[in-house]
Amino acid sequence: MQDNWLMCDFHIHTTISDGKMPLDEVVDLYGENGFDVISITDHILDSQTSDEKAQKNEPLDVMKKEDFPGYLKRLWQESKRAWDKYKMLLIPGVEISNNSGKYHILGIDIKEYINPDLSVGEIVSQIHDQGAIAVACHPHHKSTGGQQEFIHLWENHEQYASLFDAWEVANRDDLFNVIGLKKFNYIANSDFHHPWHFYSWKSLLHCEKNTEAVKATIRENKGVALYLFRKEKPIK
Ligand code: ZN
Ligand code: ZN
Repeated sequence: MQDNWLMCDFHIHTTISDGKMPLDEVVDLYGENGFDVISITDHILDSQTSDEKAQKNEPLDVMKKEDFPGYLKRLWQESKRAWDKYKMLLIPGVEISNNSGKYHILGIDIKEYINPDLSVGEIVSQIHDQGAIAVACHPHHKSTGGQQEFIHLWENHEQYASLFDAWEVANRDDLFNVIGLKKFNYIANSDFHHPWHFYSWKSLLHCEKNTEAVKATIRENKGVALYLFRKEKPIK
């Protein structure tokens, strides 16, 4: 984009967890469409939900702790390819998913595994210890939520208001009006799992194209714009 407005998406899944598109194809999709900054944020999951899935013989669809170093290595390899081929910055991320506690937290620029069983405060503190950004994910009812309601962060938003570097005020097709009333720090993301999630809410940042500048812009929440990226009608 012109004038240093960077087109960004900080919430993207691949087949490494429950996304439907392999990592390299996701990178090519974003790169060929002119994105400037993306973060891949595959899931890690709390042990109670993991155990319940195993008992029901459901696919886990998440990374385990022992998978995490290999995941980061693959992201760094793709990050180099994304930069060489598209001049697109790929920042390694993770979605720390505690389904039993009903909270999901993004860590952007993550370096080490964080246990999803920890409390919200402990998770955010470990994200910050790694120099990463903590984002409150889809913190209200989702139009596609079904039985999955990740409402804990909103129910405790007064306690958590300033803990997070930013709140996802928009996620995919949803705009969380109640979050928007609070004057928190905001970003908007696609929560990409399927190719048709590409046309969805994104963020524009007005800063240099490097990881430290991107993180500082999110933290300060100056030079941030929410952008509904659509070329086709959304699938209902
Ligand atoms: Zn989530
Ligand atoms: Zn997600």
